[in-house]
Amino acid sequence: MKKDIRAYTYEELQKEIQLLGEKSFRAKQVYEWLHQKLADSFAEMTNLSKNFRNQLEEEYEILPVEMTARQESKLDGTNKFLFCLYDGNVVESVLMRYKHGNSVCISSQVGCRMGCRFCASAIGGLERNLSASEMLGQIYQIQKIIGERVSNVVVMGTGEPLDNYDNLLNFIRILTDEHGLHISQRNITVSTCGIVPQMYSLAKEHLQITLALSLHGSNQEKRKMLMPVANKYNLEEVLDACDNYFEKTGRRITFEYSMVHGVNDTDEDAKELIEILKPRNCHLNLIPVNPIKERDFVRPNRENALNFKNKLEKCGINVTIRREMGSDIGGACGQLRRSYQGRSTI
Ligand code: SF4
Repeated sequence: MKKDIRAYTYEELQKEIQLLGEKSFRAKQVYEWLHQKLADSFAEMTNLSKNFRNQLEEEYEILPVEMTARQESKLDGTNKFLFCLYDGNVVESVLMRYKHGNSVCISSQVGCRMGCRFCASAIGGLERNLSASEMLGQIYQIQKIIGERVSNVVVMGTGEPLDNYDNLLNFIRILTDEHGLHISQRNITVSTCGIVPQMYSLAKEHLQITLALSLHGSNQEKRKMLMPVANKYNLEEVLDACDNYFEKTGRRITFEYSMVHGVNDTDEDAKELIEILKPRNCHLNLIPVNPIKERDFVRPNRENALNFKNKLEKCGINVTIRREMGSDIGGACGQLRRSYQGRSTI
């Protein structure tokens, strides 16, 4: 099997090129073709000799990430993309346009095995991990399609990124490398449902990325009800891992909280959340849950969500309600993929 050349960090690629008997500046050229000029084929690498390109072609491949569907919001320019991978699997990515730049939310796995109750991606289980190359490919394709630079990346689409740890790390290293797109580490957010050992590992990597924890419940029991992973790692352990991440990196944790009406948006929930968040240097992002047809969760109305937010704010907690993006192309994250799978099995 050919090796996936887009998944090598700059240092790894230098070693590979040396083994091919080429001068080291060739590694820089190849890396720039892959990660700056976003080439999809060796044939595009026109400043390399034909022989060298043939040699690369024989030993390596650039895994395809090809757009198969795109939905564009008329309201705010949000785009949802469906990308097809080498094995016919599809993944979803979202482009959000903000004043401060273009932000892309990518998938890190095909499906997910974490089973969160409110999540469309959990329904089919985990199919496979994405390689670093396939994670990068989502961003590169979007940048090429829109002809504009992507400045922020959120690993919050389908998949649990810390369940695909090594590929995630390579992805971050390549994305932030000065020879590639050189996106600032501070502009990258990785969201986890709370895989404690990997949270500790990540804290040791000397990165400046933001860690977002999917909290979703104000106590252990509620978390367990919404997120099966809480059976393995309890709330206290997860919060300790968050504190450790902050201590080691100085990066403030973002807590994500999907609000399900009547389930986790009561006064009692607000009180418990305040107890958790008040002593911490953090940010809370409230996300009124998106209804999905396979589940019967109800989203709180705007007034309920605002009341909940106000209660927390009064106690000095830094809170935002996530702005709904692309409501006209609607649906929860992972639903475009599910509707595509539904169609393809008819
Ligand atoms: S919310 Fe995230 S971690 Fe949970 S099942 Fe969905 S994709 Fe997986």
